[in-house]
Amino acid sequence: MPLRPATPASSSATRPAPLPTVRMPAGMRPLWLVVLASLWIATACNVALWRELSRLPGLSGGQALTISIALALVIALATTALLSLLAWRWTLKPAITLFLLSAAFGAYFMMAYGVVIDKTMMVNTLQTDVRETRDLLNWHLLATVLVLAVLPLVLVWRQKVRRAGAGRQVLANAATLTASCVLLVLVVFLFFQSIASVMRNYTHVRYLINPLNSFYALGTIAAKPFQRDESLVLPLGEDAKLGASYTAQTKPPLLLLVLGETARSGNFSLNGYGRPTNPLLAKEDVASQRNAWSCGTSTAASLPCMFSNFGREAYDSRPANYEGMLDVLQRAGLAVLWIDNQSGCKGACDRVPNVNTVALKVPGLCDSGECFDEVMLHGIDERIAALPAERRAKGVVVVMHQMGGHGPAYYKRSPQASKKFLPECTDNALQSCTREGLLNAYDNSIVYTDQLLASSIQWLKAQEARSAPALLYLADHGESLGENNLYLHGMPYGIAPDVQKRVPWITWLSPGFEQRSKLTTACLKQQLDAPVSHDNYFHSVLGLMNVQTSVYKPALDIYAHCAKP
Ligand SMILES: [Zn+2]
Repeated sequence: MPLRPATPASSSATRPAPLPTVRMPAGMRPLWLVVLASLWIATACNVALWRELSRLPGLSGGQALTISIALALVIALATTALLSLLAWRWTLKPAITLFLLSAAFGAYFMMAYGVVIDKTMMVNTLQTDVRETRDLLNWHLLATVLVLAVLPLVLVWRQKVRRAGAGRQVLANAATLTASCVLLVLVVFLFFQSIASVMRNYTHVRYLINPLNSFYALGTIAAKPFQRDESLVLPLGEDAKLGASYTAQTKPPLLLLVLGETARSGNFSLNGYGRPTNPLLAKEDVASQRNAWSCGTSTAASLPCMFSNFGREAYDSRPANYEGMLDVLQRAGLAVLWIDNQSGCKGACDRVPNVNTVALKVPGLCDSGECFDEVMLHGIDERIAALPAERRAKGVVVVMHQMGGHGPAYYKRSPQASKKFLPECTDNALQSCTREGLLNAYDNSIVYTDQLLASSIQWLKAQEARSAPALLYLADHGESLGENNLYLHGMPYGIAPDVQKRVPWITWLSPGFEQRSKLTTACLKQQLDAPVSHDNYFHSVLGLMNVQTSVYKPALDIYAHCAKP
């Protein structure tokens, strides 16, 4: 039924009786219409999200309620922010109509079919045909859309909106946008831990956030032509060759790269921590960088960045995907091996020999369903022996990807015999741990890393008769242990606390390696407070292995200044 603005009183007797209308005040401010629509969307239109949160296995009723309230606020504020961009005289009501209809259709499909709305789902929707669409139409759909969108829209379209001059409207919209963004950041900050842990553990939940899921999916599809071709990996360092140290060598270099997981630099006694977390490394002649910084705050962000030559600033905007450090080492002629005791190498080892320890059942190391990190030393000689002999004769680089201090179940990361600090928190809900129990469990994972690194050095020393061994340990990111109510990691880099970004970087060189590389540990120890980062990793490893290529930048090699000519 078309709705018309009230007409001035007329004396015409033939005019039909006016439609019964609710008496409205002078008109509602656009802001209130935006807020009411956003609240409706954030609550009623997100039934699928509330249903899913109440069903998640790892959440108690109280936790589900907290996260639901937090997400409702986030959705309401984000929707308000988006609508404030469209709250103009001719666009306000059409925009609310679009939002409500999208939300209602989305809610129906998520509730009825248990689907989530992501890019693939949106592509399916856009490519659907009339027959398919007809198959989807039914009374349940009509009823859902009627209740969630049509009825509220009748109220919206009948509601008179107060008009303001263009200048005042610009100010009002800008104020709404700013206020909703500020409140949004505040809510995310206050509830970061609950929201982040749910989003990390149940990634599908984000695709239930209605109708932002649909808009986001449409946005990614629209941006597709401007994105990288993810199926393509371009070659890197095609000119890579071995340097002068390889000519007439009697002992090929053997470099063990231990890739740490969730290790806080500040919890290493080598870096000044008050608790004795590195009793074994303290007995070795190692150089521990005290001022090393990560590329990201999660494995997925840091790991690919570490093994690339782009560095943190350039990595996200890289024009294409390129090969990484291990490809360059292999191209130079070296034997390369990746051993993974974690969730995989995120593409860094795709083109080199790699093994995963997940299926191993080594007694004493793999008794609890997963293996302790020392499993990577188990059978390592045989794994290396299986690499091509002509490559091994030149040199070997082995990566061991640790489980390290991965949370929240820190207590699972160290075997009973290595538990130096007790009592340990054994609850995955870290907020319910005491500070002491949490720190004990985490520090025990560092003690166990100390043990792994010391065992690795012992193994490397045993290779000295036929190799020139060295070890470089570097972690992917740090961890929050309840400081400012933050736990775990993965905060956006710009606002993440330093404990999530400061990582240990430890180097051990055998006399044979010192001799061939002209490096000395004594020299490295003079620069332990120099700022270094994941940006230096690619170039430092190429430098250690004396691989010559145009993609190697000596200025980023943290060891270059110590290599005597
Ligand atoms: Zn990680």
